Amino acid sequence: MNDCVFCRIVAGEAPATKVYEDDILCAFLDIRPIARGHMLVVPKQHATELEDLDAELGAYVFRAGHRLALAVRRSTLAADGANLLLNDGTAAFQTVPHVHLHVIPRKHGDKFRF
Ligand code: 5GP
Ligand code: ZN
Repeated sequence: MNDCVFCRIVAGEAPATKVYEDDILCAFLDIRPIARGHMLVVPKQHATELEDLDAELGAYVFRAGHRLALAVRRSTLAADGANLLLNDGTAAFQTVPHVHLHVIPRKHGDKFRF
């Protein structure tokens, strides 16, 4: 059994609410959301940190994040903006060792900032 929780989600072996999926990546809701609709975009191929990720694949992950950041404005979430965040490495407080891009919908009046 794969001990990477995001690989297990990708494989459908662990539960998650997937919001987008193609051959290359999937996006699912964060289990401890900072804001409603907080999502993680993950490449299907395991890469622990950006150092291990093909640059073209990294660009593809960001492209999906870009699209989702626009989609949350048009969706029922009615976001006014979004934070796109990637914690790369334990020094940057990455806690799950499989590259993931956070897409965090934001509303005017939200009280927290990064
Ligand atoms: P990091 O701190 O590594 O950038 O963020 C890891 C994120 O993964 C956290 O926001 C955390 O809530 C989320 N997370 C950790 N384990 C799981 C899980 O099993 N399922 C889902 N959906 N999210 C998870
Ligand atoms: Zn993995």
